Amino acid sequence: GGYLAVYRDIDESKRLHERLEHLATTDALTEIANRRSFFERTEAEFDRAKRYGRNISLLMIDVDHFKAINDKHGHGVGDDVLREIAGACQDALRDSDILGRVGGEEFAALLPEANAEMAHMVADRLRCAVLDLAMTTEAGSLSVTVSIGVTTAAKARGDLASIMAEADSALYQAKESGRNKV
Ligand code: GH3
Ligand code: MG
Ligand code: MG
Repeated sequence: GGYLAVYRDIDESKRLHERLEHLATTDALTEIANRRSFFERTEAEFDRAKRYGRNISLLMIDVDHFKAINDKHGHGVGDDVLREIAGACQDALRDSDILGRVGGEEFAALLPEANAEMAHMVADRLRCAVLDLAMTTEAGSLSVTVSIGVTTAAKARGDLASIMAEADSALYQAKESGRNKV
């Protein structure tokens, strides 16, 4: 009996550990990586890409006029919209890509191995996946769009901070040029 009890204890502490790990790394609303976890994993992937001289791309995704969705439909519907967007993005990415919620209505995706052409294709796929979401509320159907900034570090040259700054500035351009753009 003692033997079995020891095993059960280890099992339980392992489960508890996994549960804590999940809580610490996952965004509670969308169930994707939270900001801290996204950046931790991104740093590790970037280091790996650098070591092997591989391409790596980063997408910064911001929901368009999201404040208006909250104002019109309420915060609860806004939350549902964020969950739907996260799900659509996750479905449109590969398992080796990393998707995170990096701000209130901001997401980011890291695409290991992706060159600029591939990254643009993926970004446009995400943009269309969100555009195609069919959501209905009490007030009727609701449509939402995202703007996406894309940057690629060929052979992982440069540093992560400047790559993020570039993606942010590309996102700003996507917003300025009319939104629902890559
Ligand atoms: P833009 O197209 O320029 O990005 O406009 P925007 O309205 O999306 O941007 P803005 O930064 O003005 O507003 C973002 C809004 O997102 C404001 C904030 O209340 C809302 N928001 C942030 N986090 C959450 C959340 O967890 N749930 C909900 N429902 N809303 C959130
Ligand atoms: Mg924003
Ligand atoms: Mg926004």
